[in-house]
Amino acid sequence: MPGAPFSGGDAVRLGLLSSAEAPALEPLLERCIQRQVEAGAVVLAGNTANNAAAILLEGSLAVLLQPDGGAQVGSVAVGELVGEVSALTGSPTSAWVIASEPSRLLELERETLLELANRSHQFAVRMLETVCGRLYSSNLRALSSDAASREFQRKAYFDQLTGLKNRTWLSQHLPALLDTQQHSDEGLHFFMVDIDHFKRFNDTWGHAAGDQVLVAVGEALVSAIRPGDHVVRVGGEEILVLANQLPDNAQATAVGERLRQAVEQRQVQLDGSDELLQVTISVGGARHQPGEAGEATQARADEALYAAKNGGRNRVELA
Ligand code: GH3
Ligand code: MG
Ligand code: MG
Repeated sequence: MPGAPFSGGDAVRLGLLSSAEAPALEPLLERCIQRQVEAGAVVLAGNTANNAAAILLEGSLAVLLQPDGGAQVGSVAVGELVGEVSALTGSPTSAWVIASEPSRLLELERETLLELANRSHQFAVRMLETVCGRLYSSNLRALSSDAASREFQRKAYFDQLTGLKNRTWLSQHLPALLDTQQHSDEGLHFFMVDIDHFKRFNDTWGHAAGDQVLVAVGEALVSAIRPGDHVVRVGGEEILVLANQLPDNAQATAVGERLRQAVEQRQVQLDGSDELLQVTISVGGARHQPGEAGEATQARADEALYAAKNGGRNRVELA
């Protein structure tokens, strides 16, 4: 009944106190102020100081991270507490609480809250359950936002068509790779890979077939590298392979050859066709020199690639 003082009987009905505890605590409860709010009213504003919790007596409340249009992260039902964490810890509120419908609340000052918890076992357990529930849902939220940010990063670093690393990945990770080289020359090589006469696949079988060829070449290259090496799609059909621990030209040539052969041996079957396409690549390799900028090594690898193209394609040249 709005207006009437909150009684010990009301507290028992809401499960806040046991019937044995209620009579002694009734004077404390009767002093608490009741507040009536309209639908849409702000019961608790986010990021503000708060020294009172409340028990919802009628209606329902929504918990939001942002007051306008933000996703709802929880709700408060009749008999449940709200605002107890900020009231007890003195920390600013972590969310907005808005009335979903006309609602009535019983305000519990921090001292009243503590006295109720001190004198009623049932109230203390109830409060503990509420706080644990909040902790659990906030952990779940943290986990899912962590997963979302990892997914966001995965999308930012990997090429959508081929699944290969992309230029963004390269710009983020190359400095660290080069820094390692600076300290000990590990024989890092840049191999620029370009599909031979790729335009013909597009022109003859269409752009979708060209895409399939690109995907197959990416897979072949990935299958040919060692763990710790990287395949990066740096342009339309231009791919950079970063391979480490190649102490001399013979080993670098062997890696370039392995990449070339992996593509040559992988015939591409187009969707809905029996035709097997023969795809080849040309490869230009360059060893990173101490102190050299990544762009400079890549440019030398590009020149070697140009030589491989001029030399007849489907071959490997080193700078
Ligand atoms: P070369 O042997 O000299 O490398 O000949 P090429 O035909 O491969 O060389 P060119 O650079 O002239 O052609 C590259 C073509 O790659 C042109 C462009 O339309 C195509 N291409 C670039 N990105 C994509 C893509 O994502 N999908 C498809 N299907 N084609 C692409
Ligand atoms: Mg090209
Ligand atoms: Mg090409």
